[in-house]
Formats: sequence, C-alpha cells, structure tokens
Amino acid sequence: MSGVRVRNAALLELGLTLPGFVERSRVIASLPSLALLTLAGMTPRAFDVTYVEVPDLEAIQELPGDFDAVAISSFSAMIKDAYTLADRYRAAGAKVILGGLHVTAMPGEARRHADAIVIGEAEPVWTKLLSDLLRGDLAPVYDARGVAFNLADAPMPRFDLLDVGRYNRLTVQTQRGCPFSCEFCAASIRLSPNFKVKPVEKVVSEVRRIKEIWRRPFIELADDNTFANRAHGRRLARALAAENIRWFTETDISIADDPELLAILRDSGCAQVLIGLEYPNRAGVEGIEQKANWKARRADRYLEAIERIQSHGISVNGCFILGLDGTDERSFGEVLDFVERSGLYEVQVTVQTPFPGTPLYERLLRTGRLLEPEAWERCTLFDVNFRPDTMSVALLEQGFHQLIAEVYREDRVRARRAAFKRRLRTVSGRPGG
Ligand code: SF4
Repeated sequence: MSGVRVRNAALLELGLTLPGFVERSRVIASLPSLALLTLAGMTPRAFDVTYVEVPDLEAIQELPGDFDAVAISSFSAMIKDAYTLADRYRAAGAKVILGGLHVTAMPGEARRHADAIVIGEAEPVWTKLLSDLLRGDLAPVYDARGVAFNLADAPMPRFDLLDVGRYNRLTVQTQRGCPFSCEFCAASIRLSPNFKVKPVEKVVSEVRRIKEIWRRPFIELADDNTFANRAHGRRLARALAAENIRWFTETDISIADDPELLAILRDSGCAQVLIGLEYPNRAGVEGIEQKANWKARRADRYLEAIERIQSHGISVNGCFILGLDGTDERSFGEVLDFVERSGLYEVQVTVQTPFPGTPLYERLLRTGRLLEPEAWERCTLFDVNFRPDTMSVALLEQGFHQLIAEVYREDRVRARRAAFKRRLRTVSGRPGG
C-alpha cells in the first residue's frame, strides 16, 4: 500500500498552502514498492503476476482485483489499512502474505491478518514460500533473519509491471543496511543488520531495464546511505554518469570530505542528495548514533560540509528532527537560524517518530513516554506520539507548526533556491535543482 495520510488538521492546512512541506513524504509515498517488484522478479513466469497500488483504501469500494494469492507491503502509517485489505482478501478466499519493515518489527500482530508472514529480507525465503503456496501448504511464518543474502544474487525487479506514466521517479537499490546505528532509524538496518552493496554492473542493468520503458528516467536510489562504501560509491557514480539519467539518493555528510566523489557526482546526473543532519548542533545529536556517536562528532562542521557539497553543483536536502531528547523550545529558533545560514537548497523538518522495531521505540515504551504505543497511524513523521523530555507535547506541536510555517514560507523557499542557483553560476557544468 502506498500513501501517507497527514492526520493533524492544522498540518493538513499548512501542507496545502506551503510549497515544499510534506513534499518529500509525498514523493516516498508515491514510489512503487521495490520490494514487491523484486519478489515479482523472483516469481516464475508460470505465475500470472499483477502489481497494484492502493493509495487510499477508503476511496475504493471493491477489492482491486480477484487473485489466488496476494502479497502486501506497507508503511507503518498505513499498516492498519493494509491489515483491513488483507482481511478483505482473505474473506474473499485469497491467500495473503504480509512482509516488510513493519511486519518484521511486529510479527505477532501481522500474523492475525495473514496466511503467511515474511520476517526479514524476503529473497532468501520467497522460492520456498511459492512452492509451499502451490502445494497448498503455506507455513505461517517465513523467517529469513540470520540467513545471509548477497545482493549479487538480487533478481531483476519487474519494472515492466508498472504503469510507468503514474510515477515521476522509479527506484533502484544499490545497497542495504548502514554502517551506523541511529536510535530512531527505521530503514533497511532493521531488515539487514550488515551493510552490503549490490555490484555496480547489476545496478546498471536495472537502470537499463528501466530505460526500456522510460527513455530518460528520474531514478531514486532506494538506499539509506549510498556512499558509505566510498570505493563502491565512486564506481557507481561513474557508471551512472554514462547512463544519461537524473537521479537522487540519501547519504551521510562525509561525502563532503571526498572531492573526487563530489566531482564525479556533479557530472553524473545526481540532482540532489538527502542528508540526515537531525539537529544543527552537537548537543542535539549527542548519543543518537549508537555505535560511535558519529553524528555528534560531525555536527559542528555541518555548515562547511554543506557548502562544500553544494559548491560542486549538487543540491542538499537537509533533514532535521524536532523533539529529540535534550532539545527544548529553543530548538525551533535554532533550526530556523541554521537553515537560513546554511544555504541548504531543500529542507525537511519532521518530529521524532518512534517506529516499531527501533531502539527509540523500545526506550520510550520502557520509560512510559509513548502516548499511544500501537497507534501506528501516527507514524507519519508529522504527528507527535511521545512525551518530549524537556517540553510539553502541546509546545512541541505548536513550535513544529510555527517552524514549518516559517521554513516553508514561499519567499524563504524561493530565496533558498535562488541562492543555490546563483552559487551554481560559479560552478561549471549543468544547471542543478
Ligand atoms: S545514518 Fe541514516 S541510514 Fe544510517 S543508521 Fe543513521 S539514520 Fe539510519
């Protein structure tokens, strides 16, 4: 299922009037499910496979298709709708398989709505699951944790199943996991604890498959930290440069230390990198990265790092989190001040979100600070579902709303973009943005 519903009426109103606000989450919500396309790629052609998007269950009267078996993947924010959809398909006689990050975090809950669930990465168990399905002998749980999966063996996703006209970007994955371990991170480290990369040739063949259905596509790398393996990242960027595409990815701030990589990126069609800065100073990110306190050690050099990346003609989408422990009502002003001084082309401001399966969720649950422990529909990144340690919930909500009204004010957005474009004129090469 795709789509994320902004629940808060005040936010909805802001989102409708401020350019840039909720833009990124809308983009994510409108991406096709690469996991399902990948499993379709592993499914023998004897199966007749269809890919269906259900952006809003409330908007459909009838089930979107009559199937013998249905595999469903969804964000936490939409998982209750996904369960309803699963229940309806089961009532109609289909076998339902659920998987993904939320199901891996909450297997007991998911099992109540499925004939089978997949825990962890699905590729190692998918072939067995399909043969059990054919024999009418599905197991309730297919647990791939502890089974090593090499991305060199990744199947070609079935991009051909997509109605490509409805997407403004398609996804290709080049790595899974991350060498870091941020307390709040609900990304692929929860499926793949070890950082691993896909061979560059395999990535290029996926890009070329997409180009067969979309001549000059915009590709979003479905990665959490693309350049964590710098040698692989350089090879990848060089290979993408030859493909005449525009692309976007997520990475960490250390790419600023690598002028060779930045030079390759500039010429490779990289339109933007998204970087989780989390907070503009060291105090705010202290302890967030739990292996080596890496983010805290970098935070005081954010300004120069952003300048160095953007001076190569690559725009940065800087992400900030409000409500982090130790940050109080001064945080709203600190974030706004940093955004203004940084020259960031794009900004994403969200509230700390305790996704299931994360150490943050466990800690807040343990200490009685979750407002509604299983209100997954509040996992939108914009809804507060925990008690902040230094301010009230109401103050965090109010400060967040006021801050986004300022950050996404039309004149500020225009000024940020104009400043970057002015800067670009001093950089030889393609226009950015
Ligand atoms: S650096 Fe990013 S991807 Fe890696 S653990 Fe932290 S939040 Fe997750």
